[in-house]
Amino acid sequence: MIHAEQLTVLRPKRLSEALALLRDEGPLTPLAGGTDLYVGLNAGTERAQRFIDLWRLEELRHIRLTDGKRTLELGALTTFTDCIRSKKVVRNLPILAEASREVGGAQIQNRGTLAGNIANGSPAGDSLPVLAAADAIVVLRSAAGEREVPLCEFYTGYRATVRRPDELIVRVRIPLQRGRQRFRKVGTRAAQAISKVVMAAVGDRVAFGSMGPTVLRATRLEAYLRTGGGEVEEARRALAEDLHPIDDVRSTAAYRLRVAQNLVGDWMRERRPG
Ligand SMILES: Cc1cc2nc3c(=O)[nH]c(=O)nc-3n(C[C@H](O)[C@H](O)[C@H](O)COP(=O)(O)OP(=O)(O)OC[C@H]3O[C@@H](n4cnc5c(N)ncnc54)[C@H](O)[C@@H]3O)c2cc1C
Repeated sequence: MIHAEQLTVLRPKRLSEALALLRDEGPLTPLAGGTDLYVGLNAGTERAQRFIDLWRLEELRHIRLTDGKRTLELGALTTFTDCIRSKKVVRNLPILAEASREVGGAQIQNRGTLAGNIANGSPAGDSLPVLAAADAIVVLRSAAGEREVPLCEFYTGYRATVRRPDELIVRVRIPLQRGRQRFRKVGTRAAQAISKVVMAAVGDRVAFGSMGPTVLRATRLEAYLRTGGGEVEEARRALAEDLHPIDDVRSTAAYRLRVAQNLVGDWMRERRPG
């Protein structure tokens, strides 16, 4: 266990200062709401001792429409409460507000940030299937410049990402697209439960969480839907090719697949015209 006196926390006031510190004083672990990091420090699973606190960087706290209102941009420090309260989110990507409501309790929603959820990279992160189905782009910035990475390419394995140590996630860009949206989280209980299966859909794009080492898009199911296919059994078969869940302490692979297939079945029946 690391003791508090062993920890260093740098607290920049501006993004440029934060990026210079990451370049010159690194390695430093970004600290946003702390809802994952504090748990890790307390449990002894987080070994980092030098942190950079992002909480005062107002430049990372915004929700806006850009590109002639065709893109929704969320700053890295957007909290789940911000998503729930934002008219721009509720109107344009209501499933992000829905997913945010399912994250922990009010205290976690007030502190937990979108970038923290993304960077933490848990396959059970509730915002991730929403962002994956919405084709979200993660914007990373270092003192040397900015780059954009599609969310599904951000992960290289279980909780492993392409983020370099001198980079911060500064915002998420979501191209607004037509199509009905759907979010479902299945856990042990209604509140405060880590998910066993999470599904999000935007039009014909479908993503799942808790079904593998990273969030994933159901590409075979999507291909079937793009043909105009509406048969539930065909969709269930396609999904079984997409998903290869594992047995773990929270659930069995067979249960997870069956729940995912049932969620898709319900969603397809709702999509039917008339
Ligand atoms: C009681 C409890 C219940 C929870 N319930 C849920 C739940 O239902 N669903 C769910 O998805 N999660 C849940 N969580 C997990 C957590 O709240 C979320 O993952 C949250 O989004 C983390 O955000 P944060 O700002 O607190 O991240 P932090 O703890 O500050 O950081 C998490 C990780 O992200 C990195 N990071 C943060 N910001 C940046 C950035 N801008 N650039 C680069 N890296 C960054 C940090 O270095 C760290 O590795 C729960 C946590 C607790 C303690």
